[in-house]
Amino acid sequence: MSNVYDKIASRDSNEKEFLQAVGEVVDSVKGVMDKNPQYRDAKILERIAEPERVIMFRVPWMDDKGEVHVNRGFRIEMNSAIGPYKGGLRFHPSVNLSILKFLAFEQVFKNALTTLPIGGGKGGSDFDPKGKSDAEVMRFCQAFMAELQRHIGHNTDVPAGDIGVGAREIGFLFGMYKKIRNEFVGILTGKSLNWGGSLIRPEATGYGSVYFASEMLATRGEDLKGKTCIVSGSGNVAQYTTEKILELGGKVVTLSDSAGYIYDEAGITTEKLQYLMQLKNIRRGRISEYADKYSEAVYTPVDTALDHNPLWNHKAECAFPSATQNELNAKDAQNFLNNGGSLVSEGANMPTTPDGVDLFLDNKILYGPGKAANAGGVAVSGLEMSQNSMRLKWTREEVDAKLKTIMKSIHTACIDSAEEYGSKGNYVAGANIAGFVKIADSMLDHGLV
Ligand code: NDP
Repeated sequence: MSNVYDKIASRDSNEKEFLQAVGEVVDSVKGVMDKNPQYRDAKILERIAEPERVIMFRVPWMDDKGEVHVNRGFRIEMNSAIGPYKGGLRFHPSVNLSILKFLAFEQVFKNALTTLPIGGGKGGSDFDPKGKSDAEVMRFCQAFMAELQRHIGHNTDVPAGDIGVGAREIGFLFGMYKKIRNEFVGILTGKSLNWGGSLIRPEATGYGSVYFASEMLATRGEDLKGKTCIVSGSGNVAQYTTEKILELGGKVVTLSDSAGYIYDEAGITTEKLQYLMQLKNIRRGRISEYADKYSEAVYTPVDTALDHNPLWNHKAECAFPSATQNELNAKDAQNFLNNGGSLVSEGANMPTTPDGVDLFLDNKILYGPGKAANAGGVAVSGLEMSQNSMRLKWTREEVDAKLKTIMKSIHTACIDSAEEYGSKGNYVAGANIAGFVKIADSMLDHGLV
């Protein structure tokens, strides 16, 4: 088995995030492979870890001063065994092949868990929308779509947003696709409500992560009421995670961005959250401004000399990492445990480092990995695709009810699969195994393609 990992590692030795994601799955499905020799004979693991297609392209665009810039665009079409490729676009200077392959790989399993017919993909660019004017972002999006449009389609590959790609970017990307192709089809999700978007899509990842946390707590006869929660990030996922925690009676004391974090011991209220949304989504400001506005909050800038992030070192029962990959390391995990932490629900993708995950598992806390806990976003994207195909629109209540049902069924699938393979209560093993078996069986059905 480790033979499979070793081969992948030797071929892609410089892709550390991708190898981290593959290593975890290879570990989790060892028992499945032993029980099912047909998977080994068909080299399912080797095939799952190799993208069906990687598209890399040049994105030339012009800034407001007339200067030309060249960024790199990507789309990883990872696995289409159970449906069209589906997964977000990330615009961030850190974007590279390793990060997008890890995200696409995770997406394959996550999408399988949603119960919807969607394959896995991911894409993006090393373009940084931060500090750019709306006109610059529009020109970049148009240049990006000028190439991407030939590779996607509503039955082929349906991207969505991710870090740096929100409603504004999706609008510009959609507009360019429509102009070039002269067709109005659901080739992107996360669209605005006026032109094909689904109610609850903006909220879905954050709400879903909190629904998943509630399911985990219910296994111990508990709920979120009165619990103190640490949330990282301050973008789409963090905002709606906070909103749902408040609705369910929990208290949120932190939020962050790439420059630092705020600690608000009194708790973030609905009014403060409204301010934060305005700050981040409209003014595109920094989290430090929250502490300028609310003097009871303390702002701590990022200190790269530290071996841990003080954000995770506050007294709290629950943590919702909702910013980015590897943002919570073993030291952070230990600090969280020392402070009495007993639940982690990952809104972000792979936010905990492998040694941090081991600590959570060893201490038997409720640990919901991103693949399962943040699947609500892509699930409602899948529901957006359904509504587009049927050319109708479900109500807010209908979509929210479907989201809840999906998160519940993901939770059950994790529990059942973990138990079947001797890892009771281990949501990492459960998510990996449940997703893997569904994809593996579908791949076998399709023959060697
Ligand atoms: P946004 O761009 O809306 O927000 C990202 C947040 O994370 C910002 O606060 C950003 O700070 C912070 N951040 C980004 N990169 C870093 C970094 N390197 N170090 C510290 N902070 C960072 O993205 P989303 O909220 O959509 O995504 C957050 C996470 O959730 C990602 O891991 C994404 O893959 C995952 N996810 C998102 C889904 C969705 O539906 N949007 C679905 C499933 C998972 P700053 O503004 O300073 O950059």
